[in-house]
Amino acid sequence: MKILFFSSDQYVEDFFNSANKNLRYKLDFNKVRLCKDTASIAKGYTIISCFIYDELNASTLEVLSEMGVKLVALRSAGYNNVDVNVAAKLNITIAYVPAYSPYSVAEHATALILSLNRKIHKAYTRVRDGNFSLQNLIGFDLHGATVGVIGTGRIGTAFAHIMHGFGSKILGYDKTNNEECLKLGVKYVSLDELLSQSEIISLHCPLFPETHHIINTDAINLMCKGVMLINTSRGGLVDTKAVIKALKSGKIGYLGLDVYEEEQVLFSDLSERIINDDVFSRLQTFPNVLITSHQGFLTKQAYIDIANITLQNIDSFIKKEGKLYRV
Ligand code: NAD
Repeated sequence: MKILFFSSDQYVEDFFNSANKNLRYKLDFNKVRLCKDTASIAKGYTIISCFIYDELNASTLEVLSEMGVKLVALRSAGYNNVDVNVAAKLNITIAYVPAYSPYSVAEHATALILSLNRKIHKAYTRVRDGNFSLQNLIGFDLHGATVGVIGTGRIGTAFAHIMHGFGSKILGYDKTNNEECLKLGVKYVSLDELLSQSEIISLHCPLFPETHHIINTDAINLMCKGVMLINTSRGGLVDTKAVIKALKSGKIGYLGLDVYEEEQVLFSDLSERIINDDVFSRLQTFPNVLITSHQGFLTKQAYIDIANITLQNIDSFIKKEGKLYRV
């Protein structure tokens, strides 16, 4: 059985080839992003594998169905790029990876916090340039700092453990209180209280219609002056234009992003191209903004899990037995 991978990269090939050693499926890796216009390359494949930037909307799914595709094995936990209802109508099964190392994303959020706070991104270029001045490199202790965690699920809880290790005071906001967080001493408060009391705010809730732009002008108005905002969850949680205004006024003192509202269009190798997104370009002019390109999940442990679970989904679909995580 052959499987076509969209949005592949060398690291995808390496991890999947290793996970496939015993299963021995024929894995055909392709860098192309899936959309309506590229879907026809799936002709002859009943199984394809996709990533977060592949566009599985109604028109793409219709072409995939005409090509004979029966299973889309997502290499991600999120599936907001899939029109699940249309897939069901077309009898295309959508499988996903419900959980993998939550430490990967929690630790990346921490990396953004430490880099912004201790100005590692500036110190790195300064020292390479022979400038050993300490001016403007002052940080603050995380010990004793108040850290707000919005969404205390798997990643939020792993993040709370790390902050607990630093000796920070942790505030949590979620629809339900998490037992593990309560044991850790996380104090659950209302969203308004969390926004108004935290020196660092880290987003770990999913993107739903009700969480879209959860960080907007009203939310920012409640925040402490000079707050640090970290988003490793989904770009749509943050109203980027409102955040830019707050960066200009100094209300937001630090911004760490691993995700961005328009990342689907932007996050690829554009190093030889002109970036046309003026909002993103404005973000990059601030010295207190640090952006990474949705790499929070990218640790060896997390990707071994992703490759194994994706292939297990495919294997269960083919053999009609075993665990298949359907959306
Ligand atoms: P999870 O389902 O374990 O936890 C999500 C938590 O958010 C749950 O506790 C849920 O109750 C809470 N929540 C839901 N709606 C909420 C609301 N309106 N307000 C507050 N809390 C709410 O998910 P997880 O595995 O911890 O992942 C969290 C998010 O991290 C994912 O949705 C995804 O967007 C993001 N993520 C990012 C990366 C990356 O590489 N940067 C990788 C994986 C996941």
